[in-house]
Amino acid sequence: MQIKAEELKFVYGKGSSVSSHALNGVNLLVEEGEFYGIIGKTGSGKSTFIQHINGLLKVQKESGKIVVGEFDLTDKKCNFKNLRKKVGMVFQYPEYQLFAETVFDDVAFGIKNFMPETSSEHTTELVQQALELVGLDYDQIKDKSPFELSGGQKRRVAIAGVIVTKPEVLVLDEPVAGLDPKGKREFLTLLHSLNKSFVKTVIIVSHDMNVISENCTKVAVFKDGKVVLEGSPEQVYGGNDIIEVGLSKPVTQNLIDDLNKVGVKIDSGLSVESFTDSIARVFGGRK
Ligand code: ADP
Ligand code: MG
Repeated sequence: MQIKAEELKFVYGKGSSVSSHALNGVNLLVEEGEFYGIIGKTGSGKSTFIQHINGLLKVQKESGKIVVGEFDLTDKKCNFKNLRKKVGMVFQYPEYQLFAETVFDDVAFGIKNFMPETSSEHTTELVQQALELVGLDYDQIKDKSPFELSGGQKRRVAIAGVIVTKPEVLVLDEPVAGLDPKGKREFLTLLHSLNKSFVKTVIIVSHDMNVISENCTKVAVFKDGKVVLEGSPEQVYGGNDIIEVGLSKPVTQNLIDDLNKVGVKIDSGLSVESFTDSIARVFGGRK
């Protein structure tokens, strides 16, 4: 399903003396199938925006609109429970939200919450599927306490608890923050593999320009509660607008720019692999 925000505004503490204009007219279209990246400096409205996608933050009066698939979130009759079943939200450091005594119970919570009519046999099946999808061994892990797991395992269990209801859209706020390089790579591989399952669209917020340029099909840049730049990673990082917003470019784009300055023009995408291929072509190396 498609996600479309039009002139979306949001004010924290509306009407009070300490109100804060977090969104000032966001226009954004995320098509089904994208691996969509959202970037922007701290305080630019990224988290506030993504919390609108599953209705955690409600659209305020006369503050634009957001439509997610068949759900018009400004409609009073919008079924938020059904929406949340279809749009999974993973917050920053999701491992801190684990709470149950066993991994099984933690992952099964989403089913109890969203699909209470599910039989216990089917629940077991769904929990097993979810844990296996995130790369964990069901039999080994199901009875453990979430608190005795490693950081990476905890994060996987937390994701399992979100995908257990088979959401079509998965939204993650800083999903690789705090992971070491290997953990980061593994986690992104996991997100791509989920994106090939029932999860049709992935939206990630990240500070890491390399992660965004390597993984995303599209990128939106937030500034002062608005989208100021949007397009493919090559479009967003290719020019200097991104620097003017106060963000940096991914390593590959910096290398492409620097080579350009010394007269070496290379036609490359922003993944390391694409960059290496292009360099090999320019310098006559063999793959
Ligand atoms: P980002 O995720 O890009 O860092 P946020 O959406 O968290 O940005 O914040 C946007 C603006 O809203 C900031 O000015 C921030 O201080 C403010 N803000 C965020 N959350 C709250 C809140 N719970 N109460 C009041 N103001 C908030
Ligand atoms: Mg944030």
